[in-house]
Amino acid sequence: MKAHDGMYIGGAWRPAVGTDTIAVLDPVSEQVIAHVPAGGAEDVDAAVAAARGALTAWAATPPAERAARIAALRDALAARVDEITATVTAELGAPPRFSRAVHAALPIAVAGSYAELAASYPFEEKIGNSVVHAEPVGVVGAITPWNYPLHQIVAKVAPALAAGCTIVLKPAEDTPLTAQLFAEAVHGAGVPAGVFNLVTGVGPVAGQALAEHPGVDLVSFTGSTAVGRRIGAAAGAAVKRVALELGGKSANVILPSADLARAVAAGVANVMGNSGQTCSAWTRMLVHTSRYDEAVALAAEAAATYADRIGPLVNAGQRTRVRGYIEKGVAQGARLVAGGPEAPRERGYFVSPTVFADVTPEMTIAQEEIFGPVVSVIRYEDEDDALRIANGTVYGLAGAVWAGDDAEAVAFARRMDTGQVDINGGRFNPLAPFGGYKQSGVGRELGAHGLAEYLQTKSLQF
Ligand code: NAP
Ligand code: MG
Repeated sequence: MKAHDGMYIGGAWRPAVGTDTIAVLDPVSEQVIAHVPAGGAEDVDAAVAAARGALTAWAATPPAERAARIAALRDALAARVDEITATVTAELGAPPRFSRAVHAALPIAVAGSYAELAASYPFEEKIGNSVVHAEPVGVVGAITPWNYPLHQIVAKVAPALAAGCTIVLKPAEDTPLTAQLFAEAVHGAGVPAGVFNLVTGVGPVAGQALAEHPGVDLVSFTGSTAVGRRIGAAAGAAVKRVALELGGKSANVILPSADLARAVAAGVANVMGNSGQTCSAWTRMLVHTSRYDEAVALAAEAAATYADRIGPLVNAGQRTRVRGYIEKGVAQGARLVAGGPEAPRERGYFVSPTVFADVTPEMTIAQEEIFGPVVSVIRYEDEDDALRIANGTVYGLAGAVWAGDDAEAVAFARRMDTGQVDINGGRFNPLAPFGGYKQSGVGRELGAHGLAEYLQTKSLQF
């Protein structure tokens, strides 16, 4: 795998100030495949200074020209599809087909959507005797996780560029090679020097320095609720804008009138994709008591079909964590019907596709984000019971509802405390706002709503 031994700052690859490095692992072979610099506070300082220096000119660049640069970025990413696929597979462990179809294709689509939005967004609005201008919020500190390494970068950088902001990115330590590849694409797209900057490093050092930097106007963070809470608190103290995309424990609600086989198959597929490392995964399957046993059997059968094609978890720590949750499920009385805590292979951070039956809503595996290939099938007695269970966690990121017709599913979905719901298997829409209710976060990503996060308004009165 190709690795840069520097930071992309001010339009060039520069050596890091310190000598610390991060070893990048292949989660299938457990071998080190590359080293990248682990940046520190001085590297973050340099990157923020570069972003600040580039801000005035980029903010004043006409939206059509910003749109042209984002379109060029989309094309630069599209030209690197093979390299992106191979890189995500190497450092995240995702099977090549999934890497290509999702990890590479989705961010290219999102970049394309922002090329269009930058050109068409109403940055100016007349309200009575006022003209209201939507102006860039300034320098953005973007901190991203490893689970969708390129998508989460593009979901922050593309709208920030469209808004006229400049950016410093601190990607996850597990997936820095994808971030370096992205920086190459930005460079190739002719984005002016300093508009986008990359500092690789670990969260508590480079991440924290970026989140607390006085030269950063908005911190956009995706990751765990624990870290998000601290970043939100620091931003509050500094009276600084913050966007938080945090965890989830989403419910797949199968109403009695639904096509059960279809709903169960889609629900299991939703969790097994990316080995369960998806914040919006429908990890709780809610089934009416009259169809419960049938659903459990279908879910176990479906999960078994993933045994040979699921990728590993990203690292040994995540595998330990996920196995710990499976053991806890057993200890609390849930019934394993597929998978389990044992390692399915000798090498690699694999966890078996796992299904639990007889899960009650208060069990740990029904409350906490596991971030692994684990589905909990939960029984409900009636619709109100289903709603109570669906809404009964601290999270509210996503969900699904299945019913005999869309209207019935919609009526239930409108009562759910969650940011997005798929109705009878509705397709992912990269223009629809994505984000959480409750402790799943603050703010929205994607589409016009995602662009608005990077804007602040100024009113001129006449
Ligand atoms: P994380 O620790 O919250 O990491 C997310 C990002 O924040 C990474 O770039 C991380 O750097 C950085 N970071 C860590 N500590 C920081 C700090 N004190 N200040 C500033 N930045 C900091 O999450 P994770 O370790 O990747 O995964 C842990 C759990 O988070 C998962 O099991 C899952 O439950 C949840 N998660 C949620 C999402 C989501 O999309 N909502 C995505 C990934 C993970 P490092 O990479 O160096 O740690
Ligand atoms: Mg971490």
